[in-house]
Amino acid sequence: MIYKSLTNPSLTASFKEAATTGIAPDRGLYFPDHLPDLGRDFWASYAHMDKETLGYEVMKHFVGSDIDQQTLAEIASAAIDFDLPVVRLDDRIGVLELFHGPTLAFKDVGARFMARCLGYFSAQSGEKTTVLVATSGDTGGAVADGFLGVPGVEVVILYPSGKVSPLQEKQLTALGQNVRAVEVLGTFDDCQDMVKTAFVDQQVRSARKLTSANSINVARWLPQMLYYFVALQQKKSSDKPWVVSVPSGNFGNLCAGFVAQKLGLDIAHFIAATNSNKTVPDYLTTGVWTDRKSVATRSNAMDVAHPSNWTRIEALHANNFDALTTQISSYSYTDEQTLAAMQQLYQAYDYIADPHGAIGYLGIQQYLANHPDHFGVFLETAHPIKFTEVVSEALGFSPELPEGLQQLMQAEKKSTVIRNYAELKELLMEKHE
Ligand SMILES: *Cc1c(COP(=O)(O)O)cnc(C)c1O
Repeated sequence: MIYKSLTNPSLTASFKEAATTGIAPDRGLYFPDHLPDLGRDFWASYAHMDKETLGYEVMKHFVGSDIDQQTLAEIASAAIDFDLPVVRLDDRIGVLELFHGPTLAFKDVGARFMARCLGYFSAQSGEKTTVLVATSGDTGGAVADGFLGVPGVEVVILYPSGKVSPLQEKQLTALGQNVRAVEVLGTFDDCQDMVKTAFVDQQVRSARKLTSANSINVARWLPQMLYYFVALQQKKSSDKPWVVSVPSGNFGNLCAGFVAQKLGLDIAHFIAATNSNKTVPDYLTTGVWTDRKSVATRSNAMDVAHPSNWTRIEALHANNFDALTTQISSYSYTDEQTLAAMQQLYQAYDYIADPHGAIGYLGIQQYLANHPDHFGVFLETAHPIKFTEVVSEALGFSPELPEGLQQLMQAEKKSTVIRNYAELKELLMEKHE
């Protein structure tokens, strides 16, 4: 597979180059040159394919010969070796639970796939790599877990101070080893801007071999397709057409869903559900893209005002505004609505949702109200335990911490506080041991 920069298609890269550099030299996002045909044999056996085979059979088209067959099969199966169930709440609505991985959020899938790919490439070349990543909450934990102890890779994670939950913060700051947590006095967008600046800073680049682990990296973004494949295996022949609601922040998850749909999955429509960071819903309503600053909400992993992956979603729709508005419905919800949805899910179905999943649920409800001839599936992107404060605010109790996590909550926090890019640069210019 060849990847092209979305801003300058003459800048091309192999999977390995795209995964190890993160972003094209012109700061454009890499995008597959074409979408593969999975083939008749694939679709003939898809319904009963196990997850591990599925992972390999889909990803091989995007990785090509950059990783040998057996290694890729191992990487793909390790990335999704946990449950991805569609839990049916009633005969109209189901929840695709993506939180059964080690850090309890969907980002485990992409982060584990990517960590193993980079570990493989680094061992092959003997070159040390620094993974530089900005997190609004869950990316950092998934990336830290995926890369912990991977030889030859140092991980530097930027997160907005005071804007991630206590459990999320511990998942970033308590591991140590090759994982360094950098606490930024600013917003997630500030963190993301600093990361992007470092990537085009020649001095930093000559001191370190840098790559990103955000969903801008194809090795992190593309494997997210896999859980849509696993979900659609759970569609019943009696189900009405599926509409899938994706709680969205940086829009990587939704964008992976679109790729899966274009590869042939039977998804009738997508809903992009956001919190008050509503750049996209406003754009799809008015046709005007308004630059905003991100605002802090209860669903902090979606506090993104400039969603990086939106350009990929546009590219998948030939940059045609009408096609976009036909394919996507996008709605935004306030914190009050989010808390009320969590209460409703608990009262009606005994279901404890996290605030992000609750926003997905609101999107499904709003769509089904006008399109009752569909079956709605919303993505539950994190375990409610990651957002206990919000759960207890909504429901009056907090889910109990599993044992492994109790230990983590007592571990010591270690972070480096920075204010601006100059301070990040100084840290990156230190020698990478
Ligand atoms: C990252 C995250 C999101 C947003 O996903 P994007 O791919 O950035 O749109 C939603 N919910 C949770 C819990 C997350 O961690």
